[in-house]
Amino acid sequence: MCGIVGYVGPKTAAPLLVEGLRRLEYRGYDSAGLAVASEGRLEVHKRQGKVRELIDALPAEVPGGLGIAHTRWATHGEPSDLNAHPHTDASGRLAVVHNGIVENAAELRAGLERQGVEFRSQTDTEVLAHLIARRSETSLAEAVRGALGQVKGAYAIAVIDAARPDCIVAARNGGPVVIGVGDGEMFVASDAAALMGHARSVAHLDDGELAEVRADGFAVFTLEGAERSKATQALEGRIEGFDKGDFSHFMMKEIAEQPAAVRRTLLGRLDRRFQTAHLGGVELAAREMLDIRRVKILGCGSAHIAGVLGAHLIEQLARIPAHAEPASEFRYRNPVIEQDTLYVAVSQSGETFDTLAAIQEVKRKGGRVLGIVNAVGSSIARECGRGVYLHAGPEIAVVATKTFTCTSIAFALLALQLGRIRDLSAAHGQRLLLALDALPDQIQVILDHSAELAPIARRLARSEHAYFIGRAAGFAVAMEGALKLKEISYLHAEAYPASELKHGPLALISEETPTLMVLPDDELLAKNLSTMAEVRARQGPVLAITHPGVRTPQAEARFEVPRSAPELDPILLGVPLQLVAYQVAQGLGRDVDQPRNLAKSVTVE
Ligand code: GLU
Repeated sequence: MCGIVGYVGPKTAAPLLVEGLRRLEYRGYDSAGLAVASEGRLEVHKRQGKVRELIDALPAEVPGGLGIAHTRWATHGEPSDLNAHPHTDASGRLAVVHNGIVENAAELRAGLERQGVEFRSQTDTEVLAHLIARRSETSLAEAVRGALGQVKGAYAIAVIDAARPDCIVAARNGGPVVIGVGDGEMFVASDAAALMGHARSVAHLDDGELAEVRADGFAVFTLEGAERSKATQALEGRIEGFDKGDFSHFMMKEIAEQPAAVRRTLLGRLDRRFQTAHLGGVELAAREMLDIRRVKILGCGSAHIAGVLGAHLIEQLARIPAHAEPASEFRYRNPVIEQDTLYVAVSQSGETFDTLAAIQEVKRKGGRVLGIVNAVGSSIARECGRGVYLHAGPEIAVVATKTFTCTSIAFALLALQLGRIRDLSAAHGQRLLLALDALPDQIQVILDHSAELAPIARRLARSEHAYFIGRAAGFAVAMEGALKLKEISYLHAEAYPASELKHGPLALISEETPTLMVLPDDELLAKNLSTMAEVRARQGPVLAITHPGVRTPQAEARFEVPRSAPELDPILLGVPLQLVAYQVAQGLGRDVDQPRNLAKSVTVE
């Protein structure tokens, strides 16, 4: 969500800022802007819409080696040129970009207006520019610190002042900030992805920290003013992940990358000697794992749904009661934290604010949290301290695909490890290892047959509403399939447990409303076939994602997925649903990679 980039150094800032914004585009945003300081004045350009529109509005040259830039995801005030960041003070010499929300903005604004300040935007952010500019401290860092003392809320900010043009001041309280170190130049960003290819190393700010970033170095302070030493880490990662290559969309590229991504998630984690999995980052001794009485999984959106699948896997393989709950709900209901519960936080970006807040709540009450995260060094990875990196590679499309699959696999590994410490037999462990090993090639088989999904995609594209149903873990698959379809095609798809259909939604089934069934060849097949008959009896068209050999004469269209171990079947059954959503959205001409109103990592509450 909403990105920040800043540059201070000998080069012309504007092109570097724009390049950084382009790298952050994937996060989803509604407007973009930049401010560059040169010869005592600021030049500000901002536009509603895409970074492309900002670029078109820029003059041929924007001189100056100090600048900040932003992609906005509106929370306060509609998306518009005026509300786009950066926001400046009355004199137009000081500029602020901000991710997050100033919670007491209305109150601060009223106070400033009483003092004669005229506001130009509807944003909460603009108060920051006025507050900082009106401080009397001589250094910009001190002025920002003073102003932040008046502010409540969660934020990441970057500030420049054309009258003090030697530094960027950045601060963090809830939103990510990284400082990038180059050769005689420095960067600030909300995501290290923006700095790839430019910064050699990065330092992450923690909550309650403020940094003064100059071309030749940086200093970090607490918001109370104490200096902090900060280690830097080499910036690793390849730029190729940020390029679509031959694919027309990042989403399709990322779906197609799944065999390789899954191999990376599995790499070095299958322990063939003891027929178990070994997740190094979990950092729990066997004895501690044995003491776990319950597993609680926290995440939002697709990460939550991967957690629902994960809970099934853990219950099946380890026989530990496991439950997934949206982190966004959990954090607000004064949850009971138990000593012998293992809390697992899931986030592909590692920056999801609701999940981060849930982790902090668990930790504050003495619970221990394991992270399952894709983005290395992200806030959630650092807050958890222990966990499992997916190694799925950058995921640029707003909707999760490969990270969903890889998270499910990380859960399978965790479940196997927990299971083998308990009652799961070596023979069963061995079967699962073989099945895990086979997954990448089986996903490739599904990808190779993606054209066969066309009848299913066409049927869904014609319908305003659809049901996605499944039983047990198959219901989690249905949930993720329905979410994917909603997110990128804007069609209404409702996921429902197949067992519950007759308890209500059957009333809505007609020939207009197709039902997509997740139909594995498992012990619930007979039950699922009865549900199919009930849908057909009401003229509802049925589309089936199923296994070879399952007879579905009543289905209008079907797609077969290779068999895995029964516990891992849901992972493969989910893949065609990604392809279906992609095909529907593409057929309808939607903006597949950046669907309306959505952002990649939701760093606001
Ligand atoms: N709350 C600010 C606004 O609405 C910042 C939103 C963002 O994080 O992009 O302008």
